[in-house]
Order: sequence, then C-alpha cells, then structure tokens
Amino acid sequence: MTHMPRFSEIRADRPTRDSLAASYAAIAALLDQGALDAALSAWDQERRRYDSWSALVQLAFSRDTTSETARAERDYADALGPEATDHDTRIKRRLLALPEREALERAVGAHVIRLWENDVTTFDPAIAADLEAEAKLCARYTELLASARITVRGETTNLSGLAPFGESLDRALRHEAEQARWAFFAENAGALDEIYDQLVALRHGMARKLGDPSYTTLAYRRMRRVDYGPEQVARFRAQVVQHVVPLVGRLLEQRRAAQGWDRLRSWDENLIDPAGNPKPAGDHDFLVAQARTMFDRLDPEMGAFYRMMSDGGFMDLKNRPGKAGGGFCTSFPTEGVPFIFANFNGTHGDINVFTHEMGHAFQNWKSRDLPGIDVLWPTMEAAEINSMALEFLTYPQMALMVGDAAADRFRRMHLIGSLAFLPYGVCVDHFQHEIYANPAMSPAERNATWRRLETLYMPWRDYGDLAHPAGGGRWQAQLHIYRLPFYYIDYTLALCCAMQFWIAARDAPDDAMWRYRDLAALGGSAPFTALVASAGLVSPFEDGALEGVVRVAENLLG
Ligand SMILES: [Zn+2]
Repeated sequence: MTHMPRFSEIRADRPTRDSLAASYAAIAALLDQGALDAALSAWDQERRRYDSWSALVQLAFSRDTTSETARAERDYADALGPEATDHDTRIKRRLLALPEREALERAVGAHVIRLWENDVTTFDPAIAADLEAEAKLCARYTELLASARITVRGETTNLSGLAPFGESLDRALRHEAEQARWAFFAENAGALDEIYDQLVALRHGMARKLGDPSYTTLAYRRMRRVDYGPEQVARFRAQVVQHVVPLVGRLLEQRRAAQGWDRLRSWDENLIDPAGNPKPAGDHDFLVAQARTMFDRLDPEMGAFYRMMSDGGFMDLKNRPGKAGGGFCTSFPTEGVPFIFANFNGTHGDINVFTHEMGHAFQNWKSRDLPGIDVLWPTMEAAEINSMALEFLTYPQMALMVGDAAADRFRRMHLIGSLAFLPYGVCVDHFQHEIYANPAMSPAERNATWRRLETLYMPWRDYGDLAHPAGGGRWQAQLHIYRLPFYYIDYTLALCCAMQFWIAARDAPDDAMWRYRDLAALGGSAPFTALVASAGLVSPFEDGALEGVVRVAENLLG
C-alpha cells in the first residue's frame, strides 16, 4: 500500500435531485447508444459515490444524535433515498429488458441479475413517500433511545452504559439496573408503541401497494433472500426449540443451583460466570492496542488490515452521551475501507463487538475489488458468518484481551452466551412474522404475542417485579424490530455456521483461517446457501446441522 487511507480525508459530493437526474440521464444515454459496458461502469461509479455520501451522513448522525447539523443532513439523505432508489430501479428494469441478455450476464454474472430481478419488485414511485416516512420513524426510535439518561446508585449513564451494572456480582445491583432500564421503557412505552404502530401500518401499506399479501414476503425480498423463504426459517426455529432450548434451560438451572438462588430471575441471566463475567483487562485504549498483537498472531493479512483501520481513524468504539446505541460496520465503496462503530462499556461485550465488527470490516475490505457494488456485501445472514466466526477464531488469542487467568473462563462464557442467544434470536424473528401477518394488532396484543413466544423459546424467563417486560414489552428494546425488520434470524443462521468454523479451527486452525479468508473474499458474489457450501460448511437449513454444532458445544461445556 503506497498511500495510507485516512477517514478524515474521505470526501463525498453531496448529491441533489438535479445532480442525480443528470447522472442517470447520462447513463440512460449510454444505454441508448448501445454502450452497455460504459453504462454499467458509469452507473456503478454513481452508486458508489451515492453510497459513500449516504454512509458518511448516517455515520455522522450515529456518532452524535444531538447534533442539529447531523440530524438535518440525515433528514436530507432520508428524503433523497427513495429518489436514488427510483433511478436505480429504472436502470435495473431497463437492463433486465435488454434483448442482449447473454451480454449482460457475461458482464455482471447470473447472481447479480437475479438480485436485480428481486430488487425491482421492492420499489415503485407509489411508495417513495412511505419510504421517507419509514426512515424518519426509524430515526425517531434511535434518537429516543439515545436520549436515555439512567441513574443507578448515583451514577448516570445511557443504555449502553448500563451493561456493567446488569452483570455485577451484586444481585441487588443487577436488579436495580434492570429496574432503571425498564423504567425508561415504561415511561416511553406510549411513544414506542406509537412509532411501531406507524411503522407496521406503513410497511403493510407498502406491501399492499406492491401487490404483496403482507409485508413478510416484501421484507424477504428487501433482504434479498433469493434462496430460501419463511418455511425454511420456521423449520430452523423449530430446531432451536428441539435442540437448544432444553440445553440452555439445563445450563441456567445448573447456575441457579450453584448460586443457591431460589429462582432464576431475568436479571440473573447475564451473569454467566459464577465468579463474575471476565472483563477486558483494560480500557478502550488497552483493547485497541492489544488487538494489534491479537490480529497479527491470528493472521498477518488481518494484522495489516487492522493497523490500517486503527491508524487511519476508521473506528469509533467509545461510549459517549448522545451516541446511537449498538455496533455496526459501514463502508465507503468509493474508497474500499470500512468503518466500525461500537459503544465500549467495560464488559466482555466490548471484545465481542470489536471482533464481530472487525469480521464485517475484513470481509468488506477483502471484497473491495470485486466487480460491481451489488456484491461488495453479501446478504446479512452470510455477512454475519464473517463477523461471528471471527469472535470464535480469536479464542486462542483471548489471553491478550482478558489476561491469562481469565481466558478459559471468557471462552466458556462466550460459548454459553452464544447458545443462549439462539432462542432469543429466533423469538425476535418469530415475533415479526406474527406482527406482519396481523398488522392491525393493538399494542396490548403485540405484548401478549411477545410474551407467548417468550414462553415457547425462553420458558425460564422470570421478570419478577419488572412490570414492563413482565407485561410483554421486552421487544421494544430490540432496535432491529423497529429499524431493520426481519433482520435477526440472520444472526442465528450465521451462528450455526460460525460455530462450524470454531469446531474446524480446534482441529486445523490454518485450514479454518484459509476458508474464512476465502469466504470473506467472495463477498456477495453468491447467495447465502451457496456461500456456505463454498466454505465447506453445512447449511443451517439441513437437518442435523444445528444439532451437530450444539452437541459439540454441550460436550465441551460438560
Ligand atoms: Zn454483525
């Protein structure tokens, strides 16, 4: 690398309705002339410029949701988004209608054509205003949660900062933290119900306008799921009930008995290690410095990539007031270098989100030279393999992050946490299938639905005196349900694959790392099940796939 990229040097011209119209008119003119390759290239560059600009705008808002400038620019981007989608959809329709189908397939590949055939069914100018309204409602949810100021034992923090209290060895403190957290949600339940009411109505309305019976089928296409549908997902959820729910129930019962608790309460579930969940052995700066050695030892290419991210300012990992919650990786396709975002809070979660988002980032970097913006990212269930597998592949280096004495305990905690995530993950997915099948549900009916599904997937769940979640309001804290509908089963499907990487790396670490790098380099050049097969993994939709990895984990946990 001759030039070290710096985040502060990334610029993207701000598009306008007029500039978009001019760019797309030029692309259309090339198609009029029969210059297919030139048109495809001009279009690809235009989309990269637009996406880089949009990513910068959304990132600036996430970094400071209280900034008026960032908010105004995000509003502008949210309004322009459907306009850009309209232009793209017109080009896709035109390309798909070309008589020179073979030339098109040679230029972009059969998979990309299939993606476009999918995409054109998800947009019509008739829903442009709805899409803008949807984006605004999602931003309201982000702002509302980011505004939380929660005080526990005299210390005021935001939702991300509550986590350390929630896993304290002091049971009363864990309870107080959960009381404070759910008091915030109870106070804002009306606003949260109203936002979700409008989101569900908007999404159902868009689906009807596009000719779908409900939002679910449209959502699957918006997620570009071209190789499976709701039936396979329902069967996967049933496998979780069969093979994972009983195991997690046994692990929790063991913990309850060992701790001498009369009953296992919801505020006990996050204390996975009876001696206290292992924490990072230092603060943000410590982890960022240790990660150099960790990634160098894991893989030289990963090590060099991490240095570029870290030295170039492509990371924002510290928790701050007003910062949006969660963690994510975004990218600037004009540059090829991604950016990772998180909210470190001093718990083991800092390490998980760090390795997780670095996994996404590494995939995006490895894919940067693939032809065409459509394949720079895979669909999300495949993307989450890249991220979740790295959480497991870094197991051997964990002493660097938590200290020698705690490394084994960290790995055990992460494994138990991963297994316990599966029932929750499929519950979030099942809930959304029911919500969009019955879009007229009242807030009370939604809460009752969540509670019923929670009983199926997490029969141990006992909220005690926490009135809001006990009444079924737990789902309101899950940002994906609001902002990223139907994006959640992805984590559970990917975990089934990531655990296969973990098992493989225990026997043959170099081979597993080769396969991991090769999968990352494929980006989104194939659909999920094909990417899984190419990496030598068993599809989670195959009978026995989930049971197989769960048995290995169970034997190891003893
Ligand atoms: Zn992820």
